[in-house]
Amino acid sequence: MAKVPIVQNILAANDGMAQEVRQILAEHAIRAINIMSSAGAGKTTLLEKTIARLQGRLGIGVIEGDVETTADADRIAAVGAPTVQIITQGNCHLEANMVRAALEKIDLALIDLLFIENVGNLVCPANWNLGEDIKVVVVSTTEGDDKPAKYPQMFAVSEVMVINKTDLLPYVDYDMDAVKRFALAVNPRLRIFEVSCRNGDGLDTWCDWLLTFAAKKTVEASL
Ligand code: MG
Ligand code: ZN
Repeated sequence: MAKVPIVQNILAANDGMAQEVRQILAEHAIRAINIMSSAGAGKTTLLEKTIARLQGRLGIGVIEGDVETTADADRIAAVGAPTVQIITQGNCHLEANMVRAALEKIDLALIDLLFIENVGNLVCPANWNLGEDIKVVVVSTTEGDDKPAKYPQMFAVSEVMVINKTDLLPYVDYDMDAVKRFALAVNPRLRIFEVSCRNGDGLDTWCDWLLTFAAKKTVEASL
């Protein structure tokens, strides 16, 4: 009897905190992307390559969510982007209060675009708003091409799907048409990018889109 109200209260409190994050980001004209995937799809590598390509054109900051270790944040910091690590100590997703605390530790004046790299998990991160503008889900050709059918909520709440590791297509049984079909069945508005962080294929198209996305802040800051 009490269970449902308790869960609702937690999510309501999270939404309140997400609203606070959204307000802070708006005050600094920062656009934010909550980037999610299963473990090992290549979120951190995608961010490394993206930051390197957009250096000098866009101020990018990163909040790294991991269950343990600062390894991913160290990698991002090494490419020269302001980075804050959140260690969730067992929690399988980020929550808005963690992002709110992380914002205190980053120089927001330097940032146009903030990536929030969520914990590698295709289930519950979909349910927690972090105050981001959009959610991006990353899949890779070394996973099953039926991920969107198995984890529909993740694809329903995302605006963008990035398919990574396209260089491995000759070596894996991954049906590109099937993954797109499954994903678009769940969310017909989904924008899809195909990239290989290894050989660079598709990264220019992805980065061009990010530049356009980040520039929208000038239009939407007044909303
Ligand atoms: Mg990572
Ligand atoms: Zn979780």
